[in-house]
Amino acid sequence: MKVLLHICCAPCSIMSIKKLREENLDVTGYWYNPNIHPYMEYRARRDALRNYSKLIDLPVIYKDEYGLDDFCKKVINNLKDRCKICYADRLVVVAKYAKENGYDAFCTSLLYSPYQDHEALKEVCEELSKAFDIKFYYYDFRPFYREGQEEAKKLGIYMQKYCGCIFSEEDRYEKRIERERIKEEIDKEWEKYKKENQIEDLKKSSN
Ligand code: SF4
Repeated sequence: MKVLLHICCAPCSIMSIKKLREENLDVTGYWYNPNIHPYMEYRARRDALRNYSKLIDLPVIYKDEYGLDDFCKKVINNLKDRCKICYADRLVVVAKYAKENGYDAFCTSLLYSPYQDHEALKEVCEELSKAFDIKFYYYDFRPFYREGQEEAKKLGIYMQKYCGCIFSEEDRYEKRIERERIKEEIDKEWEKYKKENQIEDLKKSSN
């Protein structure tokens, strides 16, 4: 069976490819991720896949489109549910390509990450499967997450620090931003308290 595997990044592809190949499937990769920003990050992930695919002899089709502008326009009014839009935006291209180019099924390495909304992703894929009349090859790769991460580290593959879009890059710093905000407020309150209670003056007079 010929399977077209959408690949979101090289680390996520390791166990996805391994498990599909263990099932004797003929796997071809498909790179299409206009959700990844900024450009240098996009390029680092794409090139990591280029190198890794050579290492494991995997054919990969590249729909090489970087698109901050377009992506933001699509999700900006629905940031809370942006992931479902993001899955559909990428996988509609993959399912259509698979159908038009003689593949028996499509799948995605996004099913590997425990940080994705697995159920929403599955739902999107099932809908696309019906819409394009092509099998969605479902595989829950999440139990192999640790193994895949270890392998990526061992091979020195570039590993990203956030999901991909500029909003997930902000989420990455959410806790730090909140800590800094609280610290600023505490400092302000402390300054006010010192002024009101003449603490500096007291210190000076005790010297
Ligand atoms: S967090 Fe990840 S899946 Fe969700 S919209 Fe951003 S890039 Fe897409």
